[in-house]
Amino acid sequence: MSNCKRLRCNDVIKLFTSTKVGSYGLKFLKCQNVQCEKFMWLKDAIDADEKAKEDEKKKVVQNVKITFEMNIDDFIRDFKGKTTL
Ligand SMILES: [Zn+2]
Repeated sequence: MSNCKRLRCNDVIKLFTSTKVGSYGLKFLKCQNVQCEKFMWLKDAIDADEKAKEDEKKKVVQNVKITFEMNIDDFIRDFKGKTTL
């Protein structure tokens, strides 16, 4: 996985699964350094990764654009076909 981002730590962040009632089965990230004990729910860690989400949005927009352009080409081809008849 990734390393701890906390200053002077840089220890290994490990993925755990909660066994506590109320959060059973939920995954969380925790620094293996007992002095640091940086803790974050995996869901929150994903939400915090705004840049990755932005990149993902851009990919979706590009895919939509490509699909749209293809559809326009089909439309034009179809339209031209009809006008020559
Ligand atoms: Zn740490």
